[in-house]
Amino acid sequence: MTPPGVAPAAMGKPKKPQREKDLTSRYLSGGLDEDRLQGQQRFTARNKGATQQKILKTALMRADEQAAAGVGVDTLPVGEVLQVYSLFSEVEHAGRTYLCVVRKTMAKVAETGLVVGDRVRFRVIDTNNEALGNAQAPAAAASGTAAYFASREPEAVIERIEPRATVLTRSDSFKGIEQHPIVANAEQMLIVASLRHPTVKWGLVDRILVAARGGGLKPVVCINKIDVALPEAPADAGGAEEKDLVFARGALAHYESMGIKTLLTSADRGIGLDALRDVLRGHTTVLAGHSGVGKSSLVRAIQPQLDLKVGEVSRYTDKGRHTTTSARRYVLDFGGAVVDTPGVKHFGLWGVTAENLPEYFPDVAAGTAPEWRKESYERILASLEPAR
Ligand code: GDP
Repeated sequence: MTPPGVAPAAMGKPKKPQREKDLTSRYLSGGLDEDRLQGQQRFTARNKGATQQKILKTALMRADEQAAAGVGVDTLPVGEVLQVYSLFSEVEHAGRTYLCVVRKTMAKVAETGLVVGDRVRFRVIDTNNEALGNAQAPAAAASGTAAYFASREPEAVIERIEPRATVLTRSDSFKGIEQHPIVANAEQMLIVASLRHPTVKWGLVDRILVAARGGGLKPVVCINKIDVALPEAPADAGGAEEKDLVFARGALAHYESMGIKTLLTSADRGIGLDALRDVLRGHTTVLAGHSGVGKSSLVRAIQPQLDLKVGEVSRYTDKGRHTTTSARRYVLDFGGAVVDTPGVKHFGLWGVTAENLPEYFPDVAAGTAPEWRKESYERILASLEPAR
């Protein structure tokens, strides 16, 4: 089902329908239009500010009326943040998605701001929106982007962010003194690499492993595209793919020996997908890894209607710049969710120091590490030193 005003097919096309432009100019504001409009009508700063103020004022006024009527914050429903755009966000609760605004004061107090995965107490306000059958809403929001938001009024006000169980930080965090969270409350991280196109960068896998554990997430290492090393696949001279697969099997066995779960998959050939489903089921999993390794293909292989790429297009500004608030949570039919974080090649190593790095490399500490693991350790250590 496509909600009114949403035109997924229009994503990425150079020209937007006039209706979409009009709706956009009615509602979009602040970071929302910065992040969302591609080659569309731009607003003047004044227009933008005024629109934003009006939307926020109305929503907050309605919320205040309810608060005055005695509905306290502690009794409000708790939802999970699917996506954040400036002062707007999407919050999922009981199978429904609500377009929310954040109180400015709250956004200022929580210097880190709202992030994907945050659990929030939110106050539903009366709007003229039709209720959405919301299994479809996240996909609609990802694909419809500007049109989706333009066609809707904020439905709720976020009143409080609940304490975070885990926090994944951005790569620049460890250089500074402030933490920059990008995802909250995720339980695990699927680190995806591919056997070919691009080849596995074991150093990057190791670095993301540290970031996951530093953020309190359980890592799972997945090597995709193993079909390229199958006997019938067109091979490089000398069977380089087969050799790489042998190396990958050895590396994964080494991770397993340290208690890290691993997977060998082919999205193309349907290999390892049951095991992948088992890993994802019932958990919130952050997807990590270079672009092109097959993250979207894997997700599509296990849930065909879920297309991470559609949302990705909208995560660029019209200048082609990635936004930093672009993580997005997708609910899985069979239970659980995945969080896609495009633009974040390296997660931050917040709290990781030269002193505690050996805890993340028990094999290096025990003297049982293969050469490539020692190299990863040395490289990460060198990257930490300037901050000491
Ligand atoms: P993402 O950027 O990590 O989301 O990667 P995509 O899912 O977009 O995949 C990038 C490219 O790799 C696409 O051309 C896919 O068709 C291809 N690809 C994905 N999975 C596999 C696989 O298992 N085997 C092979 N041979 N190609 C794959």
